[in-house]
Amino acid sequence: MSENFTPDSSLQQQMETFEETCRTADLKLTHQRLEIYRELAKATDHPSAEMLHKRLQKTMPTLSLDTVYRTLTTFEQHHLVKKVQTVDSQARFEAQMVQHHHLICDSCKEIMDFHWNSFDSTPLPADIRQWGTIRNKNVTIHGTCQKCQALKKVKKRT
Ligand SMILES: [Zn+2]
Ligand SMILES: [Zn+2]
Repeated sequence: MSENFTPDSSLQQQMETFEETCRTADLKLTHQRLEIYRELAKATDHPSAEMLHKRLQKTMPTLSLDTVYRTLTTFEQHHLVKKVQTVDSQARFEAQMVQHHHLICDSCKEIMDFHWNSFDSTPLPADIRQWGTIRNKNVTIHGTCQKCQALKKVKKRT
């Protein structure tokens, strides 16, 4: 259902697409931008700016959280990354631009990708189409993941 890791070849391809988009958009390819994008492209857990910052600090100790924020915002404006709609105040990001949907756990806040081709290819009901122009249609499913469910059962027993 979801891919737990990004194979190197597809990461390589994603980096190339990223560099190309930056060049066409006249966006300077700085070391920081490259590393921030690479870290996000590698991630499958839809990290927040804070989470990314923590991971990047290991190799870039001088990188500030503010820079990560600003860079992500710039990326978003150029459609290089997406903000995931969550109910939390902390924005979560992903570099996966291929159409997909999300499962969000209310307890651990884990966000998982899933694909739903039959939904994607189903035309919207007429009254929705009359509402206006649809940019994208994404499904977000909220609930409790199996890991958290198991934890809750353990807690109840003790
Ligand atoms: Zn969970
Ligand atoms: Zn996603």
